[in-house]
Amino acid sequence: MFWLDVDKPTKTATVHRDECVHAVPGGGEQKGVNEMRRDGGWFSFDSVGEAMRFHKEQQLTGRVIMCSHCEPLSQLSPEPMAKLNVRTVNTGCDFDAREFEITDTKSQWRRLTERLLGRK
Ligand SMILES: [Zn+2]
Repeated sequence: MFWLDVDKPTKTATVHRDECVHAVPGGGEQKGVNEMRRDGGWFSFDSVGEAMRFHKEQQLTGRVIMCSHCEPLSQLSPEPMAKLNVRTVNTGCDFDAREFEITDTKSQWRRLTERLLGRK
């Protein structure tokens, strides 16, 4: 299972594996669990693709970051990602998160999510 940590104030959504030490879903006034609140929320998914599709469908602004600690996409070859115009960039911050810049067209996005969902 994977978690998507939607953080509205920083316009950042981070994907974690369930077992990641940084995955600490906590409900609260501002942030819900599987529920969108003022500052966002933690949402659980069976795959990274579903998390990214959710991010798109919710029309969330900002970036999707793959946690560099648990590397949610580590089992995927980077080669198809390059073909889909998804770049990984080093943010240089302390957390050293791997950031995905989606430079997609809609069709590329669909191909990416389909690949991540295992449909292609
Ligand atoms: Zn993580």
